[in-house]
Amino acid sequence: MKFFSHKEFDNHEHIAFFSDEESGLKAIVAIHNTTLGPAMGGCRMFPYASDEEALTDVLRLSKGMTYKSALAGLHLGGGKSVIIGDPRKDKTPELLHAFGRSLEQLGGHYITAEDSGTSIEDIREVGTRTAHVAGVRDRIGFDGQPGNGDPSPATAWGVYTGILSAVRHKMNRSDLDGIRVTVQGLGNVGYRLASHLTDAGASVYVSDIHRDILDRAIDELGVTAVAPDDLFATEMDVFAPCAMGAVINDETIPRLHTSIVAGSANNQLKSERHATALMQRGILYAPDYVINAGGIIDVSHEREQYESGRVREHIEGIGETLSEIFERSERDGIPTVQEANRLAEERLNQDMVA
Ligand code: NAD
Repeated sequence: MKFFSHKEFDNHEHIAFFSDEESGLKAIVAIHNTTLGPAMGGCRMFPYASDEEALTDVLRLSKGMTYKSALAGLHLGGGKSVIIGDPRKDKTPELLHAFGRSLEQLGGHYITAEDSGTSIEDIREVGTRTAHVAGVRDRIGFDGQPGNGDPSPATAWGVYTGILSAVRHKMNRSDLDGIRVTVQGLGNVGYRLASHLTDAGASVYVSDIHRDILDRAIDELGVTAVAPDDLFATEMDVFAPCAMGAVINDETIPRLHTSIVAGSANNQLKSERHATALMQRGILYAPDYVINAGGIIDVSHEREQYESGRVREHIEGIGETLSEIFERSERDGIPTVQEANRLAEERLNQDMVA
């Protein structure tokens, strides 16, 4: 297996492999960059087909966290961890404890949180063996509501402020009254986003693969359901992908009838060239890792005094960061995602010389 010459290596500071025979733990922690602070990123548990696949995933994800935290204005670096195993079969308290003891060995250079395959309860279990966990505290959240560390409400609010910023830039409008928004995926983030959008007077269209969620949204929020097959034929102002990745691709771009793509899903672009394809069609793209940073912002405040008003302001800063990216992208004639990467690198370099 390649390490230093791995295609995703990209100057990672530290890669640690942990195993525990008794519990069956096999985990990799990747710390990409700690220029801005200790690395924070979720722990993904997945039955990877090979060690190579797990390594590639963790390296790619941890680099992404460096950029995400830099643009979210956090004093945090980028890192991520993966546990190799099936979360439905292999996850035991013993395995989570062994993972916690492993993180303890890293002395706080990496802080973990939930991700796919792990829950808040799991990270709490990890936290019985190490202090280096986040997203686990009960609190009154940024919105004045009781919360348990679930980042989704903050992510949804961040996406909402990002949509406001995109509409301001692209459509020269400071409100969402009558703006047509399609939300794909009514899960933890998408449902809340749809609710904020209807509150703001937008015309909201929704799609999900589960009929019961759609029925609930129609009843509670007064939104209109769109069949997944008709989604791309629907005339809209904003497309908000809040389900899965790679939804922006060669097949969907020509069918998209929208001015803006702005949603929470990770890795929305199938490949980087799709950012150029969107730009060529005059579609404004809010880079996913910028617009969906509300959750990590929220979770990071747990490490200090959590003050609802301050956290809310911080989350709403996502809108300002996006405005800067949109303006610079227009000025430089390069896709927004490339501009976001440049801005993140500038912030990292500034801090390195400071
Ligand atoms: P979730 O699993 O709660 O919700 C996903 C929803 O999408 C489900 O309701 C599912 O039925 C629906 N769905 C799946 N395939 C679909 C399809 N083909 N068409 C329409 N709907 C479909 O997930 P979530 O926590 O709401 O996260 C949504 C996205 O945002 C994910 O990509 C996630 O990685 C990303 N994200 C989430 C957070 C967070 O705080 N939860 C933070 C950053 C990024």
